[in-house]
Amino acid sequence: RTLTVDTRARSYPIYVGAGLFKRLPDLLEEAGWDSGRPLMLVTDDRVGPLYADQVQRVLTDHGYRVGSVSVPATEQSKTLSQLEELTTACIQAGMDRSGGILALGGGVVGDLAGFLAASYMRGISFIQLPTTLLAHDSSVGGKVGVNHPLGKNMIGAFHQPSMVVFDVETLNTLPARQVSSGYAEVVKHAWIGDADFVSWLEENRDGLTNLDPDLTTEAILRGCAVKAKVVSQDEEEAGLRAILNYGHTIGHALEAAAGYGTYTHGEAVAVGMVGETMLGEELGLCAPLADRMEALLQAFGLPTRLRADVRDAELLELMRRDKKAQQGAFTFALPREVGRVERVTGVPEGPLQRTLDRLRGDSG
Ligand code: NAD
Ligand code: ZN
Repeated sequence: RTLTVDTRARSYPIYVGAGLFKRLPDLLEEAGWDSGRPLMLVTDDRVGPLYADQVQRVLTDHGYRVGSVSVPATEQSKTLSQLEELTTACIQAGMDRSGGILALGGGVVGDLAGFLAASYMRGISFIQLPTTLLAHDSSVGGKVGVNHPLGKNMIGAFHQPSMVVFDVETLNTLPARQVSSGYAEVVKHAWIGDADFVSWLEENRDGLTNLDPDLTTEAILRGCAVKAKVVSQDEEEAGLRAILNYGHTIGHALEAAAGYGTYTHGEAVAVGMVGETMLGEELGLCAPLADRMEALLQAFGLPTRLRADVRDAELLELMRRDKKAQQGAFTFALPREVGRVERVTGVPEGPLQRTLDRLRGDSG
């Protein structure tokens, strides 16, 4: 099944389904890619051994010339020095401006290989082959980049892929914790933009956690659709795109306060979404919704409460330092109702403190 994403730079298709990697040559051909264009497959050392051969073989069988390069499977691969190594591989393989980068992996590979495509010879085409559920998020929006020692994603560009081919069969080898983590962002997309999608997730939670291919395909497409809609209305940041940050103000602070790697990104965002729903209630912006949010996240095996060892003072300090905080007051994306979230500025510390107290309590 297909979704088309329209951006100012170009419009591109997102194909989602089981067994799609086998159809890659057809999809490339449909998009007008002839086999004369050299390809470079970028992957990581966990995904590579599982899927790189299959992808490379199906393409070389159809006459494509495909180089390949692998990076360590860790966030630490998103660096400028890694980018330089990948650039070396491309030059040595004789990649020219007609070439294309294939990004096979999760968000780390997508961001890194996407930035390689954005910068190599001032920009060449790239195709995303996402293998994590979370990558449904990173494959839409065109943000690519690497980390700097002083901050995550500090170096990057906007560079849209030519297409996204999401073979959901790859999700079967994804560790359970990564599956849950990806569902956190699926829930986020439903919650910020599609109330029917929230109900659908509630009804199909068992099939979704078991990675039923038809259900996961639908969940990915609907998640991508919400993100694509938000992004296309507000391509280079600013206002509306801020709602994509739902759950992330508390979530990012929590990731840092607990020590990176303690919570996965999705787990921290899950706790953050419950907190930011409670904050919406606290400020009288919405009817009581936090219990519903919490039940849905728990169904996907996600945590919904703060761990005892994470201190409020540290969370508040981190949120204060967040680039979105202004003059002692905080900015959040907060729910008005299921499917509708708004950017709210000037949130004082009092209600936020009361929210953290509640988020520390036991869940119902
Ligand atoms: P990841 O790419 O690190 O993948 C998680 C782990 O799962 C890795 O060890 C990977 O090797 C392994 N893996 C991936 N697919 C697998 C599979 N099918 N089978 C078995 N193992 C598999 O992490 P992620 O959660 O996909 O992405 C996180 C990154 O995405 C972060 O760097 C984040 O900054 C970025 N991100 C970017 C955007 C964006 O808009 N560009 C949005 C969200 C997140
Ligand atoms: Zn996120």
